[in-house]
Amino acid sequence: MGEHVFQAEVGRVLSLVINSLYSNKEIFLRELVSNASDALDKLRFRALTEPTLLEGDEKLVIRLRPEANDRVLVIEDTGIGMTEAELVENLGTVARSGSQAFLEKLEASAKKDVSIIGQFGVGFYSAYLVADRVEVVSRAAGTDKAWKWSSTGKDTFTIEPAERATRGTEIRLHLREDQKDLLEPWRLRDLVRRYSDYMAYPIELGGEAINQARALWQRPKAEITREQYDELYKHLTHDFEKPLAHTHFRVEGTQEFVGLFWLPKEPPFDLDDPRKQRGVRLFVKRVLVMEDCEAVLPQWLRFVRGLVDSDDLPLNVSRELLQESSTLRTIRKQVVKRVLDLLDEVAKDRPEDYIGFWTDFGRIFKEGLVVDPEWKERIAKLARFSSTQGETLTSLDDYVGRMKDGQEAIYYVTGESRGALEGSPYLEALRARGYEVLLMTDAVDTWASENLGEFEGKKLVNAMRAEVTLPEDEAAKKKTEEAGKDLEPLVAAAKKVLEGRVRDVKLSSRLLESAACLVLAQGAMPAHLEKIMQRSGRDVTRGKRDLELNPTHPAVRSLGLLAAKDAEDPKLKDWLTLLYEQSLVAEGSPLDDPNGFARRVTSLLVHATT
Ligand code: ADP
Repeated sequence: MGEHVFQAEVGRVLSLVINSLYSNKEIFLRELVSNASDALDKLRFRALTEPTLLEGDEKLVIRLRPEANDRVLVIEDTGIGMTEAELVENLGTVARSGSQAFLEKLEASAKKDVSIIGQFGVGFYSAYLVADRVEVVSRAAGTDKAWKWSSTGKDTFTIEPAERATRGTEIRLHLREDQKDLLEPWRLRDLVRRYSDYMAYPIELGGEAINQARALWQRPKAEITREQYDELYKHLTHDFEKPLAHTHFRVEGTQEFVGLFWLPKEPPFDLDDPRKQRGVRLFVKRVLVMEDCEAVLPQWLRFVRGLVDSDDLPLNVSRELLQESSTLRTIRKQVVKRVLDLLDEVAKDRPEDYIGFWTDFGRIFKEGLVVDPEWKERIAKLARFSSTQGETLTSLDDYVGRMKDGQEAIYYVTGESRGALEGSPYLEALRARGYEVLLMTDAVDTWASENLGEFEGKKLVNAMRAEVTLPEDEAAKKKTEEAGKDLEPLVAAAKKVLEGRVRDVKLSSRLLESAACLVLAQGAMPAHLEKIMQRSGRDVTRGKRDLELNPTHPAVRSLGLLAAKDAEDPKLKDWLTLLYEQSLVAEGSPLDDPNGFARRVTSLLVHATT
């Protein structure tokens, strides 16, 4: 009871909304009707176990009531309602992360497009786009007391006892002078048709329903417009962008269910927050029984949004029950298949859109290669990678189509960025043969490509691995062998100097321009992954590397001469250490002894310039 001060974040959101010059103010209706529908969903769900909650008023309905004389528009629902404490909590505070993200996004956007408000869990406050005072009268289901929340949106709100005959909530908007056309029935009808036609509950105006009041997904596809799909998507996800694509299907036979799934266009700001999974809603015979039913989709499709409406699951289904449910397993398999079909379709018909999708969600999607062998062929076909071929991303199919005669494998390197990889010494021999190399920069890539193993019968080969063998190029091999003959003392000296730091030292034909590089032994993690693991606080023991020397490189050749003359020469030790250190830098690893490295480089400079 009494006067309450808005939480600071709410105050900021409100002042932005109140002072907004944004012209599309009518979106408030979508937000408030959407809240009303959620309240009805919640009631229907709770009534499954507490049927008495419905007593006194069985009807689940949303009503719009213009009170022209007072310039008041009322939006009423017979939903779950709010207690006094819930009014204070829900309409006076907001999760900090959401409002913060909303404010940042809005302040950054030139248009100050407040229609994005719903995404951030602050949709209610859009009421202040059109009203200068708002009252909320609510009675929580199962209680007999009603309360009134009211505020002009400036600093404070008050809570006082009120009268309400039945359960539910009534939002009373005292419209601003310039918004009074919102009292016109034709205008309300038009807005409902535009924004809220997908609603499963009747929206009444003057005693008659002005929408179809039949869950959109239960209607025949031919009767549903693109706009209706988009609006339902916005309602379910709180996304303000239209989705990229959708798939709507009915499965019949032993299992009957309807699925409706969307690919978002933009990643939501909380995509990586595991507590904020607004993914999939589960309905059983039209009743919403679970809001975030992660069991319907595998983790690697967690960016997909949508709903399933099953005829076979029990209404009292729980998360635990779902775990064991064979019905759910069938549903899940069908859903994955349909989502992959949809992705295939977008990739084929709208390649540019698909690349956009891939850029935002590819790193998540690829996790499927690691965890879901069942689908790996289909995922691999949909994967896109950077490559040495050009700026655009490529599919594995296209890569295979471009493979050179005699090229047996699909080659890739992994690292932190495309830039870091392009100059990588590991590419030299492959480049010389005209082979294309995939440049993989996501953390998941190393695991994903190792798990994939092969594509269309072609092995995927990490060019940074020690065991890489290229199809023999006789001339190059001869040259290496020839050049290697007199380098035995150097290799022996290097093994001694670098003992404990590398597993082995070898001569190789992998390198053309570079003098040396480190290659990973079987199972060793690439440097950029070691870094990621370390950053996430895990203990990583550094995997062993081999140092490979380029026997034709002038620097290696003159070190060879030095070693042949005097294997104990202290300069030799320094230069070999330096070769090792620059190979560490090239693969993106930290130096064990940066000061020593600096000293050695300086002494080399002195040597070269005097
Ligand atoms: P969101 O709906 O994204 O949580 P809102 O600012 O729109 O954010 O609403 C805040 C909260 O207020 C809702 O989560 C809900 O708990 C409550 N609420 C809003 N409108 C109603 C309503 N008509 N009936 C019951 N609760 C409501």
